[in-house]
Amino acid sequence: TRAPAQWILPPARPDSVTLDELRLLPDIEWYDTMDEMWRPGEAGARARLRAFAKKPLASYAKTRDRPDHDGTSALSPHLHFGEISVRQVWHALAAKHTKVRDSTFAAELLWREFAYHSIYHFPHTVREPLDRRFARFAWSRDAVQLQAWQRGRTGYPIVDAGMRQLWTSGWMHNRVRMIAASFLVKHLLIDWREGERWYWDCLVDADYGNNSVNWQWIAGTGIDANMFGRIMAPLGQSEKFDAGDYIRHWVPELADLSDAQIHDPDDAARPQAYPHRIIGHREGRERALAAAKAMRG
Ligand code: FAD
Repeated sequence: TRAPAQWILPPARPDSVTLDELRLLPDIEWYDTMDEMWRPGEAGARARLRAFAKKPLASYAKTRDRPDHDGTSALSPHLHFGEISVRQVWHALAAKHTKVRDSTFAAELLWREFAYHSIYHFPHTVREPLDRRFARFAWSRDAVQLQAWQRGRTGYPIVDAGMRQLWTSGWMHNRVRMIAASFLVKHLLIDWREGERWYWDCLVDADYGNNSVNWQWIAGTGIDANMFGRIMAPLGQSEKFDAGDYIRHWVPELADLSDAQIHDPDDAARPQAYPHRIIGHREGRERALAAAKAMRG
């Protein structure tokens, strides 16, 4: 893609104000930690792409599911805000690697296309379940549990690590977005739209299509049929995808626990500052399956 050779500018610039005069930044600098992680704008996007393009594409396929590795591109906010395009990403990778088209990374970019395609054809699904049966699902309205989830205090270390990463950095690793979302919808039986709204408020890559389509996918209310019964086991997922360092980083009160205890600390190992589980895994799972059965009638 080539830049246009010439821009036609208006003869006089309209009166305007400076960026500072708009006072867009809040007085309390709560975004400090986000500032460290992100460099908004085209230059920041290009720098991220360059760094990612240097790594072998095969390593993405191996480590993309590991929240304790720096295995993904972190291009999502740049793509969302149009600071870089999917075509630019594609061509930059094709210049360095063979077989981009068949790569796992290309498949992920296509999920984004799929999400946009979905909301184009079913625009109401950003707010309403595509599967109409879920309009009568008996969602829980437990505000205390919702808040525990939002604040990363569910007593499930992998869920809490993700929710705290989200709050602090404006981003959450994809695998953990899935685990935390599944936990909210299935274990806590809270309407996916509550979770979608929270991610929307916190994510720097918050995206109308990607957010709602992924939430509906996890909730089992969207295009893939009968997904509600697929309930992610937070502890199994945690042991499989995190060697422990992701939890240690984002849940510092657990940092001294051994590998054996970090995913599921027993009462003797659990520090006082860390909450008990707000619901047992089996209890949550059975309740979710019973609610789905009741909905089907
Ligand atoms: P990479 O793994 O490097 O992927 C490259 C790019 O492909 C991403 O930047 C993104 O544009 C696209 N992509 C990757 N996975 C997906 C996916 N599952 N669906 C759509 N596009 C994808 N992504 C958003 O951009 N905005 C959101 O608001 C958003 N909400 C999500 C909510 C839930 C419940 C879940 C499970 C996923 C959500 N995702 C969202 C998708 C995915 O988690 C992020 O795109 C990804 O984690 C961003 O990190 P990355 O750029 O390092 O991804």
